[in-house]
Amino acid sequence: MWQIVGQSRAVSLLQRSLEQGAVAHAYLLVGPPHVGKMTLALDLARAVNCQGDEPPCGSCDACQKIASGKHADVQVIGLNSTGNSNDKPRTEIGIDQIREIQHSSSLPPFEGRYKVFIIDGAELMSTEAANCLLKTLEEPSVGVIFILLTANESVLLATVVSRCQRLELRPLATAQVGVALGERWNVEPQKAELLARLSHGCLGWAILAAGGDSLLEQRSQRLDRLLDITSADYEERFDYASQLVAWFSQSRSLVQEILDLWLDWWRDLLLVKLGCGNDITNIDRQAILLDLAQGYTVMEIRAFISSIQSAGEQLRQNANPRLVLEVLMLSIPERRAAVNYG
Ligand SMILES: [Zn+2]
Repeated sequence: MWQIVGQSRAVSLLQRSLEQGAVAHAYLLVGPPHVGKMTLALDLARAVNCQGDEPPCGSCDACQKIASGKHADVQVIGLNSTGNSNDKPRTEIGIDQIREIQHSSSLPPFEGRYKVFIIDGAELMSTEAANCLLKTLEEPSVGVIFILLTANESVLLATVVSRCQRLELRPLATAQVGVALGERWNVEPQKAELLARLSHGCLGWAILAAGGDSLLEQRSQRLDRLLDITSADYEERFDYASQLVAWFSQSRSLVQEILDLWLDWWRDLLLVKLGCGNDITNIDRQAILLDLAQGYTVMEIRAFISSIQSAGEQLRQNANPRLVLEVLMLSIPERRAAVNYG
């Protein structure tokens, strides 16, 4: 059984190639973080090495070994893979890692039918590493499959992309995530509903969040901070902008995550304002949203949503982060107190 939830297009394409004995020697799985790329890659690794009647059966020796990361012919390469010679954490996938799999791919499979190399975060390959991989892809060996996973295809070498069969994974419908959380991960309905909405269709995130409270706590803290800043004076907002700038220099994705949370919040305010409260993301804060929405006009909310979007876009295009984030803080609309009829 395929472990991946949804993604029926990608799965049926892979199933067809398996039935026809026409498995490609390289795949590129494209999709946002936590959408299921690794799950699908491991499904494919199991399918080509399965010893059961209906691959991937999930119960044969090969399937089980792959699921537990113990199959000699299935290797995952990424920033966190072992064999890091210097002790510093990796910031890119180096040529040493690609050379190693290049060597390994020239040897026959040890216990399975196919050697499968999964490159997690393929966009993080250094230029040398990508060029080295390209050589391997240009001269494919029999019984070897490369599966590249990326959330950011545009950064990959076009020559590498063109050597791979490309499969796109899309976010699932909210309801599909909710059902999967309940049925397969035994998450209680109310929590499943909240996580499904917060996941934006990326089931992997919801599973992580269901597994411990830290992601939900982090989101709560960020939301509380957002609420404070929204009603704070300019001095405090600028302090917050400085904090974001400092974070940005260490982790761009962290600031992007915070901006995404701001975007969700202000979209929710707009939805509530327009009477579409059932579609909000932050369903556990519906009462606050209803209350706050009264203090803004639709136009003010729309304008600030555009400001958040353009701030995100400018940061991606390497604009000066301090300038972008300070302007964003200045664009927060002033909230009016409830109308006084006295
Ligand atoms: Zn099997």
